[in-house]
Amino acid sequence: MNIKRLSALLSLCLLLYCGCAAPASPGHAEEAPGTGNSAPADGRTPAAPLEASGPQGAPSEGVPEEVPAPEPADSDFVKVTDYIPTIQVELAYAGTDNFTGQAIYDFTEAYLRYGTAKKLAAVQEALKAQGLGLLIWDAFRPTAAQFKLWEVCPDPTYVANPETGFSSHSRGNTVDVTLVSLDGTAVEMPTGFDDFSPLADRDYSDVDALPAANAALLEDAMTQAGFTPYQGEWWHFSDSDVYEVETGFSP
Ligand SMILES: [Zn+2]
Repeated sequence: MNIKRLSALLSLCLLLYCGCAAPASPGHAEEAPGTGNSAPADGRTPAAPLEASGPQGAPSEGVPEEVPAPEPADSDFVKVTDYIPTIQVELAYAGTDNFTGQAIYDFTEAYLRYGTAKKLAAVQEALKAQGLGLLIWDAFRPTAAQFKLWEVCPDPTYVANPETGFSSHSRGNTVDVTLVSLDGTAVEMPTGFDDFSPLADRDYSDVDALPAANAALLEDAMTQAGFTPYQGEWWHFSDSDVYEVETGFSP
């Protein structure tokens, strides 16, 4: 009888303990800023030619040999989040929240040349030490998208005329980026994306000290990794390694 009561008491204690312990772990309030930075679960590994047919004289030891996917060439197009999982991506032209009010292309992932993505990874790493990261607004822009932009906004001040030349975004070596904190919170910058006022240029003397310092920080980090800043827009950077305008690749 006593033993029964004792074991019942013990069970109760155990239940109470578990019941209290479970919710004691800190919540995850900041889990989903924006679209979240979920791991690329279905991240396609870069096209790796299958080398399934093993060597002719396979050793009898049967040691399964892992064949690592070959590293892409610098000029290959890659999905940026496959190589920089912590980077945030919100492509402005994938939806209607851009200066045209129209969706300009129908994909939501950022693609760049592998060589450019490697440089961007170095920027992301350098910013991490300061509690910051990158958010991509635009990356590879197919030439068809440039025609659509021109159709909507035929003003060479704001849009490259595809009849005379494409934006460097169509080379796959150019990104529009801003800073975010590590939990995805926006960092104050001189203007929003595609602000066509004089405040958007790299003369930061006409904006407040904090956004000016943030824009300068972004510019320094990008420049050190090998990007060339565009004078007219604080968010626009091109890899100093230039590639041809791409007409074959489609995200
Ligand atoms: Zn740009």
